[in-house]
Amino acid sequence: MDKLISVVIPAYNEEDNIVVIIDRLEQILMQRTYAFEIILVDDGSRDKTLSVIKKMAAVKPNIFYIEFSRNFGHQAALKAGLDQAKGDCVISLDADLQHPPELILQMLEKWEEGFEVVYTRRQEDKSLSYKKRKSSALYYKLLNALSDIEIESGTADFRLLDKKVIDVFRDFGENEPFIRGLIKWLGFKQFAIDYIPGTRYAGSSKYNLRKMMKLAIHGVTSFSIKPLYSAVYLGFIFSGLSILYVPYVLHAFYRGEEVDGWASVIMTIVFFGGLQLIILGIIGIYIGKMFMQGKNRPTYIISSSNLKKD
Ligand code: UDP
Ligand code: MG
Repeated sequence: MDKLISVVIPAYNEEDNIVVIIDRLEQILMQRTYAFEIILVDDGSRDKTLSVIKKMAAVKPNIFYIEFSRNFGHQAALKAGLDQAKGDCVISLDADLQHPPELILQMLEKWEEGFEVVYTRRQEDKSLSYKKRKSSALYYKLLNALSDIEIESGTADFRLLDKKVIDVFRDFGENEPFIRGLIKWLGFKQFAIDYIPGTRYAGSSKYNLRKMMKLAIHGVTSFSIKPLYSAVYLGFIFSGLSILYVPYVLHAFYRGEEVDGWASVIMTIVFFGGLQLIILGIIGIYIGKMFMQGKNRPTYIISSSNLKKD
């Protein structure tokens, strides 16, 4: 068979994982007759990740690297890999072995059956910290409630995409892609595989609370303008409520009762002040997105690579 499989791995400070993941991948892919290439995207790592990758690429002709000029983030690294992959299908997975490479065999079977997107669903994993599990579940709930697309909980960037899908995806001009949501939105014949995640082999998670919040807000605001409507709805609700307040004020006025409602006034001011800030913030995020998109800057900058340009 002369089909080619591409594997894309974004890596940010993963020096101790690279050799292991390549090893595991080779063992798995050797079981099939397909030719394969492995593309590692070094997302501005500050440790020895890049030199480890380069060393492997020097001795193995089917291992490629892409070096970013700085850290552009997981989604950008993934996009770079997908942009450069030449395979008839592309499999993306994390460098830390939390995405068990063994699953690739099942993915390939489904691909051979004709599915164009084979994605994975992470099962509840007791070894993951309670905080992470809860925040991830809450995240998907919020995302689905607030946006126009549906993302199943536990879907991460561990999936197989047919060349057909990649070709469509490449033409997307979004400079801050949220790939998880886009893939579902694209459609095509999709199949889900459930899996139990492995534990991170070495190093530590690069998603801190700040990065997770950013991804969460990004996920919502990339896919929907629903949050903007919230301003209008809230406006209606509160002006409605304040009309109800008028008779009470008039009543007190005619009775000549001095309303010494300082506390309630302050509370109202504080409450509406906060509300306005939130809504301004939401509007600001969208304007910011238009601003960034208007500049048309690239999603990532490659400073070096051993991939041949064609
Ligand atoms: N990653 C990246 N750039 C970043 C953060 C993460 O390329 O700015 C990569 C990282 O090397 C790993 C994958 O994205 O291969 C997932 O990151 P991580 O394992 O830290 O996330 P978690 O599994 O904890 O959600
Ligand atoms: Mg991980």
